[in-house]
Amino acid sequence: LIELKGITKAFGGQVVLKGIDLDIYENEFVTLLGPSGCGKTTTLRIIGGFEKPSSGEVLFNGESVADLPPHKRPTNTVFQRYALFPHLDVYENVAFGLRLKKEYQKMPAKAREALIEQKVSKYLQMVGLVGYENRSVHKMSGGQQQRVAIARALINEPQVLLLDEPLAALDLKLRQEMQYELKEIQRNAGITFIFVTHDQEEALTMSDKIVVMNEGEILQVGTPEDIYNEPSSRFVAGFI
Ligand code: ATP
Repeated sequence: LIELKGITKAFGGQVVLKGIDLDIYENEFVTLLGPSGCGKTTTLRIIGGFEKPSSGEVLFNGESVADLPPHKRPTNTVFQRYALFPHLDVYENVAFGLRLKKEYQKMPAKAREALIEQKVSKYLQMVGLVGYENRSVHKMSGGQQQRVAIARALINEPQVLLLDEPLAALDLKLRQEMQYELKEIQRNAGITFIFVTHDQEEALTMSDKIVVMNEGEILQVGTPEDIYNEPSSRFVAGFI
């Protein structure tokens, strides 16, 4: 689905990605794992088109992502700080992306609202928030807000969801609960998740494929079992 080919990135004189090659398939839960500063977020931002690589390219179904206009990009992103709209309730936060779409704006109001309601309800159910439609998001817990953010991203029906340390701000118990839920959500949505974390346990619990990074390079790509049982280097063994 997505191919990274020889991606390098420098900020000023500092080279932060030194040639990343990676294939990502449909329906995979892929985790970019590595210590702070190794280049995970930068890789994710390049996949999402927020950042241009210094060299190399990202292909989506064989087509360069750089050539696609933003609304044709296959990705949607959930950030660590959920960036919800505090003045809107849960329903309107989730519905927001649909209301921006031209095809929705062109519809007669009644049909539009019915379709929006159907979709909001589908995605709130997927993240376990049915019944919370009219809540103010600022009165919800971190975990609930994170679920709203995920529903809001999924409602646009992206082919790939990019998640940058979405659980980092949660306490340990909630984080563990959300690990299982996120995997479940990914299965139900039937799309690819690319997840960034520096937390080994998170990566081992959720991923179909783990990409271990250090200092701007990929050290190993494999299933959690591969990485755990057959680390390719001392660094990977120590880190896991
Ligand atoms: P963390 O887990 O701490 O977020 P990371 O693995 O996601 O780390 P990146 O955020 O990709 O790492 O950063 C890699 C390196 O690139 C770091 O040294 C960072 O300081 C640098 N960097 C990232 N973005 C910029 C930028 N916009 N301008 C300058 N340097 C940057």
